Amino acid sequence: MARAFIGFGGNIGDTRQLITDAIVCLALRSELQILAKSCFYQSAPIEAAGDDYINAVIEIETELTPYGLLHVCQAIEQEFGRERPYSNAPRTLDLDILSFEGVIQNETELTLPHPRIIERSFVLLPLLEIAPHFFLPDLGELKTYLPKVAHQRIEKLPCRNCNCGEKAVYSQSAH
Ligand code: AMP
Repeated sequence: MARAFIGFGGNIGDTRQLITDAIVCLALRSELQILAKSCFYQSAPIEAAGDDYINAVIEIETELTPYGLLHVCQAIEQEFGRERPYSNAPRTLDLDILSFEGVIQNETELTLPHPRIIERSFVLLPLLEIAPHFFLPDLGELKTYLPKVAHQRIEKLPCRNCNCGEKAVYSQSAH
């Protein structure tokens, strides 16, 4: 079994609901188990047009291969109406594999760890919320990259049904 992290983002429609539904779709698959889910975050678009994004990250355990997981993620994107009219277009739902166990590869179809993992607050904050000591061999502890993304606007959203986000350490605007 491999541990992997998946990042979600979108800025069209009720993205919170879409991400929640996508996580349910993943949870129903026998090849993977969901170990943790971050709170939702609202972030400014970066190098993209449109409204603010909603983001979240989950940790999973899976018997799938990296490409098997990619194809599952892409099938869910399609199911939720993702279109790619142009690069960085507004999107209903985007799933990115942020890391997959210790796999390091630089292929166009699947780069692991995700090349922008340390460059985006909307990845780092939710990831560090559920894995505060996340470490990558070539990059070290990811929390050391937080100051570099501190200028990127992001807000942790209050959870609707619980207080799980209240003690977050890394949120720049915890509720
Ligand atoms: P995007 O428009 O951001 O959803 O990018 C999708 C493209 O990135 C697809 O063609 C994927 O095959 C490719 N890709 C490369 N690395 C990854 C990754 N770690 N997770 C998800 N998609 C990836």
